[in-house]
Amino acid sequence: MSAPPTQPHSGRVAWITGSTSGIGWAIAKQLASEGAAIALHGSKAASASTDAQLAELHSIGVPARYYALDLADGQAIAPLARRIAAELGAIDILVNNAGMQHVQSVLQFPAEKWNALMAVNLSAPFHTIQACAPAMLARGWGRIINMASVSGLVGVAHKPAYVASKHGLLGLTKSVALELATTPVTCNAICPGWVLTPLVQKQIDSLAQREGLDEAAARAQLLGAKQPSQAFVTAEQVAALCSFLASDNAAQVRGAQWNMDGGFTAA
Ligand code: NAD
Repeated sequence: MSAPPTQPHSGRVAWITGSTSGIGWAIAKQLASEGAAIALHGSKAASASTDAQLAELHSIGVPARYYALDLADGQAIAPLARRIAAELGAIDILVNNAGMQHVQSVLQFPAEKWNALMAVNLSAPFHTIQACAPAMLARGWGRIINMASVSGLVGVAHKPAYVASKHGLLGLTKSVALELATTPVTCNAICPGWVLTPLVQKQIDSLAQREGLDEAAARAQLLGAKQPSQAFVTAEQVAALCSFLASDNAAQVRGAQWNMDGGFTAA
């Protein structure tokens, strides 16, 4: 009997959307450290910063390339998936992580913001799944992991589009999981609570400004309102869960909406 591979994701190719910062970047590093080739992706053209990220991934010893695409352009998603497969290899692990936020009352919420947010948070995962799942099925292995949120499980005032998009993403996750239930391709969602990333830092900054708070007080108020642990989830903890869902041991985790939220949704 040959020795088992030492790395859980050796030989796999992972496309993590929105992996230039926050949770996505943590997932890219985690999967790379466990052997996966990485399609790093963001909405902006390659830069010194993405070059540095690629250098870090290469130093781990895995192939990695950067791909720029604004996911609001749904038509361009399948061509990008084909390009990644041609350049890095067939996509085994798809992490739909890219997401945007806009905080405003539903009564004032601009329709164009609603459409943009839905396109990135909900329609893009539909397009990436449609683009990547056929090759996974043909190759007999695949993992689709959607980054939802506690906002997919409960309502939150002043985040109508975000909450609707994340509820929708959980619906998409469950439907895809059921459709693929007898195949070796799984589809699951992660529902983090507050994670301290640029997306949340913007909300801390606007809370601090609105209420005249310093940074520490704004952070404490944000957590205090919702997250019983009073501690942020870390991007690395979310990445570790993502790595598990991408592993062979998670073959029978299907259609899960796995929260990691410091007790946010336990109340
Ligand atoms: P972030 O702002 O650090 O990262 C978001 C990523 O999405 C970036 O890489 C950005 O380039 C990409 N992106 C945004 N709009 C895009 C577009 N139009 N086209 C292509 N890429 C685009 O945010 P984060 O906190 O790391 O969020 C990552 C995911 O986790 C999001 O889906 C978010 O909703 C979800 N999430 C975050 C938290 C949190 O507390 N931070 C909690 C629950 C869920």
